[in-house]
Amino acid sequence: MKGKKPICWLCCWVILMCRAAFCTASDSVIPAKGSIESQPNSPTPQDSTTQATDKLRHEYLQLFQHGDYEAIIDRLTPLLHKSSPPDSGLAYVHGLTSRIIGDLDTAATDLAPLGNYAPDSDASTWFSWPPASAIWQQVQFRRQLFPAHLKVLHDGETLRFNVYYDDMTDWTRDALSVLPRAYAANHDFLGQDFSTITVLLFNDYGHFTDYVRATRWDVVPPKYAHGIGSLEALCISRYNGYHQDWPALSSKYSCATVAHEMNHSLVERMIAGYGLPRWFMEGLAVDLQTRITPEDVPTFGRLIRQLVRQGGILSLDDLTYHFGDSVQVYAGESTQELERWRNSNAYQQGYSMVNYFLRKLKPGDLPHFLTDLREQRYTDKSARSRQIFDQQTHKYLGLSLDEFYTDWQSFVQRIYK
Ligand SMILES: [Zn+2]
Repeated sequence: MKGKKPICWLCCWVILMCRAAFCTASDSVIPAKGSIESQPNSPTPQDSTTQATDKLRHEYLQLFQHGDYEAIIDRLTPLLHKSSPPDSGLAYVHGLTSRIIGDLDTAATDLAPLGNYAPDSDASTWFSWPPASAIWQQVQFRRQLFPAHLKVLHDGETLRFNVYYDDMTDWTRDALSVLPRAYAANHDFLGQDFSTITVLLFNDYGHFTDYVRATRWDVVPPKYAHGIGSLEALCISRYNGYHQDWPALSSKYSCATVAHEMNHSLVERMIAGYGLPRWFMEGLAVDLQTRITPEDVPTFGRLIRQLVRQGGILSLDDLTYHFGDSVQVYAGESTQELERWRNSNAYQQGYSMVNYFLRKLKPGDLPHFLTDLREQRYTDKSARSRQIFDQQTHKYLGLSLDEFYTDWQSFVQRIYK
């Protein structure tokens, strides 16, 4: 997709933290440790049950902090279904995770009964958990921005999509028909299953921009964008800012575009919204597209040849820090006169670099590479995103990022000069 501005995990976190900052100590609904009367040295069954539950809550809070949302939903959902009423601490983590990945109805169900409950703060850090009521309010706010109607799509026993739509038109039906194919391509590419994906189908462009602005710090989507894939949802708008309708949505090309946006959403889940370099994020999504439209590969090759011959290759710094600017110049939406970007094509260059990256990566290593990035971010919070990406590139390819870039440049020069 064009014009993607990924929601940063940190941003989500900041929202939660800000909420927490305005709230006082929680009204815990969990019995405090040791509150059950017992004889010294003779633990009762209640003691061991409380300890086991505390341990479980701690483990899931840890998983959340590591950004492993898929593991939380996968393991905790059946556990919560078994217990009635569900444990507050576990329902809290499940609700918070569901809110982050856009399953807002589940989040509301989990969080509504919890009142002002929040897990105990971690005394060793500055961190404190926001009360359930604050997250619930946030869920209500975001939920009202969703289109009004819901259709669920199953894949066998699995609830694959919650699709919110404005009206059931032919366009909506076409959009529904491409989702399973787009998922299948992403599943093969990313090498793992995912829990339910929230899809928002906007018939109305104004409604689409309202949603994007309200959930992305007032950022207006680029006019050419027909959709945006984020950690919270896959958004597809019938019209873009030029009031252009999609070509037949059930076509292979439209399916490839939906798959592209879905790739952004799913990759964001794997990395918990970690800030991947934009060229890498877009390159992955374009590479994924070519799994659906392999006939595009020769065309993309010709575009790269053109970039090489016209001196349109962007430096790694430009590609990393000015991706959006160069796209705007390319799309004719920029008022800036930036000659050095005039012949560039950031999407095509990103695709070419990622394609080369994937060829150098050991088969099957892409999911490990992505989840490792997420884990590194948790482990080394002081490091900058580029530094972590650089370290991981070295770990998986045996090359620093600069060395990889030089290597790729030699490759395209050799192939296309
Ligand atoms: Zn994109």
